[in-house]
Amino acid sequence: MDDELDDRLAAVRARVARACSDAGRDPGAVRVLLATKTQDASTIRAALEADARACAADPTLRPVLVGENRVQELVAKAPLLADVTGGIHLIGQLQANKVNAALRWSSCIESVDSIALARRLAERTEGLDVLVQVNVSGEPTKSGTSPEGALPLLEEVAGLGTLCVRGLMTIGLRSDESAAVRAGFDTLRRLRDAGAARGLCGPELSMGMSGDLDLAVAAGATVVRVGTAVFGARRV
Ligand SMILES: *Cc1c(COP(=O)(O)O)cnc(C)c1O
Repeated sequence: MDDELDDRLAAVRARVARACSDAGRDPGAVRVLLATKTQDASTIRAALEADARACAADPTLRPVLVGENRVQELVAKAPLLADVTGGIHLIGQLQANKVNAALRWSSCIESVDSIALARRLAERTEGLDVLVQVNVSGEPTKSGTSPEGALPLLEEVAGLGTLCVRGLMTIGLRSDESAAVRAGFDTLRRLRDAGAARGLCGPELSMGMSGDLDLAVAAGATVVRVGTAVFGARRV
């Protein structure tokens, strides 16, 4: 099992490196985030140990990040992993009644999609890292502000003064048409460029998953969120 995790993680890093080299980007500019939903703490720990071995063998690599979708899973697993993670990103939707629990265990909320949520976070914290989630595909099942709403939301969030908006996040269009998927990632990059130019957000672009990370890296991703490519198909 551990060997398998080593191999799969290496394969993901190789995909990132290839996509970077094709796009003339520095592979050090892209961080891999393990999307650990449904995986138990011991499996996540094994993946982090595999990552530590890889990083020890190649000092140019940066350690993986960890992301959870659901606050219940975050709260259940984060205490068991506190010695091996620098904090866990929340990459799924955050409901108002779960904000306190999320803040206790999350080092970055990647799913800020409304001013109401941003206000709740800002009231309770100082200097919290967040990303603003944008629904670039317009698919109704996906959360995130609309592309048109992204810059106005960034302005409102900046007005709160207490959140550190590190950049933008999206879940790409689910489609076999790579041009259409890529167009969505390009939209996120353009919004990030516009936001950063106005001093409203940092440079991070969290986009790309197991199926489309190559396209996302080509479009400028700085974080790719990978689940099945490392852990195998989810059973639940
Ligand atoms: C599950 C998930 C991922 C990873 O998806 P895979 O296809 O398993 O790589 C990335 N981002 C979010 C928000 C997710 O929920």
